[in-house]
Amino acid sequence: MNSLGTAPHTARQPTMSLSQPVNPESSWQRDLAAAIRNPKALLAALGLSEQEIPEISAEATAEFPLLVPLSFLNRMEAGNPHDPLLRQVLPVEAEQTTVPGFTVDAVGDGAARQSAGLLQKYHGRVLMIAAGSCAIHCRYCFRRSYPYSDEPKRLRDWEPALHQVAEDETIREVILSGGDPLMLPSPGLAALVECIDAIDHVDRIRLHTRLPIVLPSRVDTELLQLLQSVRAQVVVVVHANHANEIQDDCRDALQQLVLSGFPVLNQAVLLKDINDTVEALERLSNVLINIGVLPYYLHQLDRVAGTAHFEVSAETARSLVAELRDRLPGYAIPRLVQEIPGRGSKTSLETL
Ligand SMILES: *Cc1c(COP(=O)(O)O)cnc(C)c1O
Ligand code: SF4
Repeated sequence: MNSLGTAPHTARQPTMSLSQPVNPESSWQRDLAAAIRNPKALLAALGLSEQEIPEISAEATAEFPLLVPLSFLNRMEAGNPHDPLLRQVLPVEAEQTTVPGFTVDAVGDGAARQSAGLLQKYHGRVLMIAAGSCAIHCRYCFRRSYPYSDEPKRLRDWEPALHQVAEDETIREVILSGGDPLMLPSPGLAALVECIDAIDHVDRIRLHTRLPIVLPSRVDTELLQLLQSVRAQVVVVVHANHANEIQDDCRDALQQLVLSGFPVLNQAVLLKDINDTVEALERLSNVLINIGVLPYYLHQLDRVAGTAHFEVSAETARSLVAELRDRLPGYAIPRLVQEIPGRGSKTSLETL
């Protein structure tokens, strides 16, 4: 029953490509296709000239393409070259600077890989690289250079990973990550989730996704029904860094997830000139709490090559969180953590 091939309700074709768009007309896939991929188009849409942002870089774009859905663009302030949402996606010259200590695999993903698509760093939980793409390209991304092309594309490719989870009863939680797991069209996602859900000792399936924030139309009825049909407890962890992200269609999508009964948590990355003030962090916590989303982690930046200009010192990070404590209830304070390769959990920076 626990083995992938014999689960009675796994009637799907194991050779099916998980990313096959069965319903190309679904609105989120259309929204994704309409996303901005050209820096000039991005500036034009915001009414900004290249003179106002001389640091915009074609080389950085060539290395890690620009990708911004229109919904996210609509939440930026026109004419503001310092907009905190724009700065998360704008390819700039500083990415080309080599800085000692900033490396390609800063979080030790390579060493944690157990089988195709499966990473385990911590007791009781494994992480699956469920999809190799995202709906937005965040310039500070810790997996910007991850070798996604080596990871599973079809249900059959997941067999070794699923076997490993089925064989190991200490694994109580499977995290679907990526890339972004919600980039899988619903039929492929349903097929993968069904296989995980058939493993009795998996109590929880967690989604690590930025799509409810950057492409809110992904949170459609089909997805909500899919998640509600899961036996295991579903937990949704989204990723927003600034209160301005939580507006309009994004706010509605988060509310849908909360009203559907899933615990919804947010993780943010502390980013220089984006959210590194106590006011910005306080606003973010407040807008999240007010719609029922709990702040989970505030990550100290992973030291990935090309992201040094986003780094905030650990000392500043600690004092920001200390100030936040003086302003907000305990449940609104994210845990300030850093991922240190080789450790058995994320490391709290507050007690160091
Ligand atoms: C961050 C991470 C997790 C999740 O850690 P939690 O503290 O449970 O949120 C799990 N697996 C891997 C490989 C991770 O990098
Ligand atoms: S959504 Fe997450 S994985 Fe994707 S580019 Fe942004 S930070 Fe990286």
